[in-house]
Amino acid sequence: EDHSPLQWVALPDWPDYQAQLPGGRVGGRSIWPAPLPVPPYLAARIQPTPEVPSVPVPEAGRVTDALVLRGPVRGRVLVAGLLLALEELGVEVRTGERVDALMGDAWGVRGVRSRTAEFAGDVVLATGGFQHDPALVRSLLPIPEVAAMGPPGCSGDAVRLARSVGAAFGNMADAWWMPAIRVPGEEIGGAPFFRPLHHERAQPGSIMVDRTGRRFVDEAQNYTDVGRAMLRFDAGSYTWPAAPCWLVFDGAYRARTTIGPLAPGGDDPAWLHRADDLTSLATRLDLPRGALEDTVERFNLDAKAGFDGEFGRGAHPYEQWIGDPDAPNPNLAPLESSPFYAVEVLAGCLGTKGGPRTDADGRVLRDDGEPVPGLFAAGNAAANPFGIGSPGGGGTIGPALVFGTRAGEAAAS
Ligand SMILES: Cc1cc2nc3c(=O)[nH]c(=O)nc-3n(C[C@H](O)[C@H](O)[C@H](O)COP(=O)(O)OP(=O)(O)OC[C@H]3O[C@@H](n4cnc5c(N)ncnc54)[C@H](O)[C@@H]3O)c2cc1C
Repeated sequence: EDHSPLQWVALPDWPDYQAQLPGGRVGGRSIWPAPLPVPPYLAARIQPTPEVPSVPVPEAGRVTDALVLRGPVRGRVLVAGLLLALEELGVEVRTGERVDALMGDAWGVRGVRSRTAEFAGDVVLATGGFQHDPALVRSLLPIPEVAAMGPPGCSGDAVRLARSVGAAFGNMADAWWMPAIRVPGEEIGGAPFFRPLHHERAQPGSIMVDRTGRRFVDEAQNYTDVGRAMLRFDAGSYTWPAAPCWLVFDGAYRARTTIGPLAPGGDDPAWLHRADDLTSLATRLDLPRGALEDTVERFNLDAKAGFDGEFGRGAHPYEQWIGDPDAPNPNLAPLESSPFYAVEVLAGCLGTKGGPRTDADGRVLRDDGEPVPGLFAAGNAAANPFGIGSPGGGGTIGPALVFGTRAGEAAAS
């Protein structure tokens, strides 16, 4: 805040993702940027935000999950605030200038090289993850193919650059997982655009089933842990039965829930599978005979009793928070009203969590534990300080800002 026009606002009602665990809090840890006017010349430099049915910011009152995800603030304000601060300092920001190589070796990095120029100085790798590089995904992640989200430029350059100077690596098999849907025709930066399936999983009147027609997870948990459950490998069929899987819901859910770009109610697009009864829907989805009907029957009994005996859906504060605050139960309702629907859910990856290991000042380390002089890394380019953990809203950008700042200060000192 001292060095940019960004102002941060605490979210007093937003629970940690595992608020029920020792040390967890039911609010006040996550923050978001206050609204900031973005001058048009700057707005034109920032990737547009994909369309979602938007939620207006109230004058006062609770900052809800829907407002944070579908309100007008979101990531562009953060990017704009950082760009304005750099502009004030006279820092040149080049786009379309891909760094191809580091100058130096394991005993010292002196700068970077792009196709057209060389730039001397200490280097902070902030090139994001490797989710858009199919070869790295296949060789490192626990599933051979992911629905890669985030900028298409996140194609593993930090791995290649840090490897070229003998860096040690950590956390390479993990990622910020996110169940995702694909709306035909939508693209971002020339790549297929996969939408996060977020609050949709937690609303009453819905379940997720794998390709055997069975539930496999508490659907209302945070996205990374639901996404991780989708990666289960089944040795009997030699498949990943929950990747892809299905979000199944009924007509009452469709009438009151925003689904990706779809406002509640209205005409059904072709990418929603719809049928008058569950048996017809299961046939359309190619599920084993009777499995979906059995799953829904069991879930409906639990939903009516207000207790999910299989997976404990809705038991914890974060799950209730992303559910429907106006429903009798924020997370549970039987699927009873025709028509019935399904949307295909893919194993989405917001970004990977592995990269060169660093010390607390972002210095890239070698296998012998000593830093590579002149080389730093932060954000998704680096081995993530949270390991496999997904602690709460801002769990990705928060440490990126903290360790990016520390790396910058160490490089400048
Ligand atoms: C849909 C979505 C919603 C999200 N919501 C949240 C949220 O609410 N809160 C939160 O904390 N996090 C959120 N995240 C995650 C967050 O956006 C990322 O963790 C964060 O942007 C990572 O920042 P980064 O600076 O490490 O990398 P990135 O933001 O991925 O930026 C890396 C950049 O480096 C560029 N690059 C790559 N290679 C090179 C090269 N060789 N030379 C030059 N440039 C290069 C890439 O093109 C890219 O533009 C979300 C992510 C997605 C996809």
